[in-house]
Amino acid sequence: MATVTLDGIRKSFGQTEVIHGVDIDVQDGEFIVIVGPSGCGKSTLLRMVAGLERVTAGEVRIDGKRVNEKEPMDRDIAMVFQNYALYPHMSVFDNMAYGLKIAGKAKDEIRERVGQAAKLLQLEPYLKRRPRELSGGQRQRVAMGRAIVRKPAVFLFDEPLSNLDAKLRVQMRLEIKQLQRELGVTALYVTHDQVEAMTLADRMIVMNAGRADQIGAPLDVYANPATEFVAGFIGSPP
Ligand code: ADP
Ligand code: MG
Repeated sequence: MATVTLDGIRKSFGQTEVIHGVDIDVQDGEFIVIVGPSGCGKSTLLRMVAGLERVTAGEVRIDGKRVNEKEPMDRDIAMVFQNYALYPHMSVFDNMAYGLKIAGKAKDEIRERVGQAAKLLQLEPYLKRRPRELSGGQRQRVAMGRAIVRKPAVFLFDEPLSNLDAKLRVQMRLEIKQLQRELGVTALYVTHDQVEAMTLADRMIVMNAGRADQIGAPLDVYANPATEFVAGFIGSPP
């Protein structure tokens, strides 16, 4: 497990600042959901935790250690995206094993780790299939498997369920939460869907135009919105 700290984070693209100083303290094993409308800076914030974007100012710490200069592979994180970015020409096994091969892990260890993840995600019968031979939910599980095999302390999710239909979305939501508890990892989860945020979060962060308007337990945010924006956003239909 690990803590994640964002300390005075700012981000500019060219002359335009899009993140205006965000402070977040994520506890060990906590499930944090970052929620807010399209374009408010959720993905950019997550990508800075992942190391896919550099911060313009401020510090990112994982388990108390500054990681600003570290590459994504050297941070103790794994990320699951909205478009699963699976390799279409590779089997499910190879998709899940790919990162471990790159990292130079031994064959036996790769087989063991992929086997464990496949079991956890009920993907054992599908290891030889290609992604196109899977359902949307199964593909989503392969993407999760690829993250799990790396055994990261922190899981980052960027709208991982947006491409699924409503019913499957609810089911996968429960699976993600259960998995996070079982693995005991810390999670940062981005969504524009406030219902998803309310059901998943230990604490949620409501973002508005590059700022964190409010951080708190879902019911507290719901009952005591800090700004008019939060009240409108949480109260509006998804
Ligand atoms: P969200 O994920 O909440 O929809 P993003 O983090 O993707 O929002 O984007 C936040 C803002 O930053 C938007 O105004 C977007 O246009 C801008 N932005 C994101 N990535 C880039 C980039 N690579 N170059 C320039 N502007 C960007
Ligand atoms: Mg986004």
